[in-house]
Amino acid sequence: MSTVIVVGSGVIGLSVCEALIQDGHGIILIDENVPGSQTSFGNAGLIADYANSPLANMDTLRKLPSLLSNKHSGVSLDIRDTHKLMHYGMKFVQAALSDNFARNQETLSKTLSLSLQAHIDQIDRLHLKDLVLENGCLHLYKNSPETEADLTEIVAQKKKFDIDCEFVSKETVHSLEPNVNLDGVTGGIFYPKTRSLLSPEKHAEALFRRLNLHSGFKYIDEAVLAFEQDGQSVWVKTNSQQIKGDELVLCAGIGTNQLLDTYGVQIPVVSERGYHIELDATELQINRPIGWQGKYFFATPMSDAIRLAGTTEFADRARKTRHQHHQLLEVWSKALFTQDAKTRSKWMGVRHSSPDGIPVISRLPSMQRVSVCFGHGHLGLTMAAFSGQFIKEMIRGNADKDLGKAYSLERF
Ligand SMILES: Cc1cc2nc3c(=O)[nH]c(=O)nc-3n(C[C@H](O)[C@H](O)[C@H](O)COP(=O)(O)OP(=O)(O)OC[C@H]3O[C@@H](n4cnc5c(N)ncnc54)[C@H](O)[C@@H]3O)c2cc1C
Repeated sequence: MSTVIVVGSGVIGLSVCEALIQDGHGIILIDENVPGSQTSFGNAGLIADYANSPLANMDTLRKLPSLLSNKHSGVSLDIRDTHKLMHYGMKFVQAALSDNFARNQETLSKTLSLSLQAHIDQIDRLHLKDLVLENGCLHLYKNSPETEADLTEIVAQKKKFDIDCEFVSKETVHSLEPNVNLDGVTGGIFYPKTRSLLSPEKHAEALFRRLNLHSGFKYIDEAVLAFEQDGQSVWVKTNSQQIKGDELVLCAGIGTNQLLDTYGVQIPVVSERGYHIELDATELQINRPIGWQGKYFFATPMSDAIRLAGTTEFADRARKTRHQHHQLLEVWSKALFTQDAKTRSKWMGVRHSSPDGIPVISRLPSMQRVSVCFGHGHLGLTMAAFSGQFIKEMIRGNADKDLGKAYSLERF
């Protein structure tokens, strides 16, 4: 079997390795940071089967100017990075046009359904059920313009894509989540099949531990500086060595752009930073992830804290943390719950977001032995196990052709 070099040990890279090991490939995983310690560390932990509506839609376009100009919205942009968003912005507008949106929604729905199953299979295969909460999730409509009729319509639309969900009244919200402050609540939508991780960190650690049990697996703790394809081989250069393989998969999150830049390959995947705060779980309990619609965040019960994660900041990954996002999460947590709880930690991480909401899982046209697997935006944890399986099928030469086209970097 061949040797595959994988760059990036976030949840995507780890899942790619795990899938390829099933096919007996030798794996060399390279990362300059501890596995799972970057974006994969701090997410909201949702396996988000419900999220089939790409952000690039007419409604977002209509709301965007007011969201960006309102410093309490949880959506912001660093003006110094506007020039880096041009290509992304153009493609975002294009993706929002109704025909394109419908096509992207179709692709995303199919991807999410496959992703949920791939996640379940991965958890079962690796015996990681202890890390998963299967209590569904609640989308809460609080202080928002939507009426009960609007929520019923959202449920009907989701059901068209076979997404399991139901409208829940204010009273049912209370019985599901007694610690939610019901002021201004219209109702909610309950998604019974949504799962969540009790610790994204422990999940990544467990994946990495399993990989280390295989004799064909090797981990190199260095930054990749460059790569090339030479005939039937690929070469990866780090500070101290040149590593040879048969295939290369770049799962370096937002760092993928930098690696591709050297070859003039520019993909409009941008840095969309997100934030979390963690609340002391001894002071407040919730039974499942609760998403406050309109505020762009989820409160997820984790093994030892309640994590409020979300918000959006279009800014280069190296910019200083914008603490205003943490402050907003703190204000919202006080409004969301009937009880206060102390903030025990704060975090910021970088989503790698594509304009159409569809990941980029594709071979490089100019180097057929090199693939990229990034652009998962808000759904990288959800799609990780599936992305691994898709890369495995690509290397076998069996990947679904329609999905392959939808994920291809040539769509840009
Ligand atoms: C606030 C927030 C909430 C989120 N909530 C959810 C959620 O509920 N559900 C969901 O599905 N998704 C969620 N996401 C998205 C999800 O976290 C990401 O899509 C996912 O973690 C991406 O994983 P990754 O492996 O691609 O990236 P990362 O975890 O960032 O891993 C990339 C790795 O590449 C390495 N790397 C980069 N460049 C190089 C180089 N040159 N050489 C060597 N290594 C390199 C980095 O060190 C890093 O370890 C959320 C994101 C945020 C920010």
